[in-house]
Amino acid sequence: MIYLDNAATTRTAPEAVEAMLPYFTESYGNAGGIYRLGTESKKAIIQAKETIAQTLGAQPNEIYFTAGGTESDNWALKAVYEAYADRGKHIITSAIEHHAVLNVCEYLERQGARITYLDVDKDGLVDIGQLEKAVCPDTILISIMYANNEIGTIQPVKEIGGIADRHGILFHTDAVQAYGQLPIDVKECHIDLLSASGHKFNGPKGVGFLYIDQKVKLRSYMHGGQQERGRRAGTENVPGIVGMEAAVKRAYRIMEEKTAKEIQLRDYLIGRILHEIPGTRLNGHSVKRLPGNVNISFESIEGESALIMLDMKGICASGGSACTTGALDPSHVLLALGQPPELARGAIRMTLSEENTQEEMDIVVRELKGIVEKIRRCRSL
Ligand SMILES: *Cc1c(COP(=O)(O)O)cnc(C)c1O
Repeated sequence: MIYLDNAATTRTAPEAVEAMLPYFTESYGNAGGIYRLGTESKKAIIQAKETIAQTLGAQPNEIYFTAGGTESDNWALKAVYEAYADRGKHIITSAIEHHAVLNVCEYLERQGARITYLDVDKDGLVDIGQLEKAVCPDTILISIMYANNEIGTIQPVKEIGGIADRHGILFHTDAVQAYGQLPIDVKECHIDLLSASGHKFNGPKGVGFLYIDQKVKLRSYMHGGQQERGRRAGTENVPGIVGMEAAVKRAYRIMEEKTAKEIQLRDYLIGRILHEIPGTRLNGHSVKRLPGNVNISFESIEGESALIMLDMKGICASGGSACTTGALDPSHVLLALGQPPELARGAIRMTLSEENTQEEMDIVVRELKGIVEKIRRCRSL
């Protein structure tokens, strides 16, 4: 099997699994308990917050554990809208956000919010000038993703944060694809809220975090016990948190080497496909791009058929985001780049990890050539 869907999820690192195990079997105490079994769990949670805070240039009490990226995005947007309602009801986001942001925005619109969806250019970059113009006296929040999950484009986050800061507006970034892959400094980039998810950087599924700057005053999101400083109630997922912490340590330890290897494989794969298969186009920015992201549109191809044929060859790829796979609608991200729907339907996303090899890339190119030729031949009959 050749696994090329690391933007959908990653393999849990063995060291993350190993770190989790004792918290199922021996150290299973509720972190709220006053006995040693409980304080062991509590210590593990505090330690994990310290580890994560350090990677971001944040304070441990600014890290809140959640059940993943979707919850972090929901929390950030809904809680800011509620807490800052007296200041205004305007939120600025982009047209290419993940559905965990876009569908929350739609929900908030039904609650009375006014949302501006910024366009992106042909590479998927937001226009800083357009952002500046979109700011109104009643704007309370800018929510723009750090890096896109479909096309890998990395946004000018520091400039966006600078604008938010100058206007006294909060800045949330969905960094689910970026955290653990790229270095991030929340203070330097004026990020007030940041979403991340364990399973996107070789941690376990169902655990993530939301960074909330101390100055941001949000009310409780989950009502119940006093966990997470009373803001997110519920017994903590101690094994998940510990596993994610181990994955964070690993990600930062190998980041430089992993990035270099993925960029080399990425550019090799992109180069071969664009040169050797006619009617192909790279989606997303060629340089301001996640190290492992390859997204290519093939003319006169149904992406779905190609994915099924790739699967029969043991190659796991995707047509865009996993959430839209199975749907025949072309990706909202590719449409926002100005791509015609027929071409957008022929997009294939391959997201690499440091475990992939050049030999695998050669197999993928060979199989893709055969599959694309076959589909095109059948369509022209
Ligand atoms: C995967 C992903 C999410 C959702 O994260 P989950 O942990 O799967 O809920 C949100 N935003 C982006 C950009 C993602 O890639």
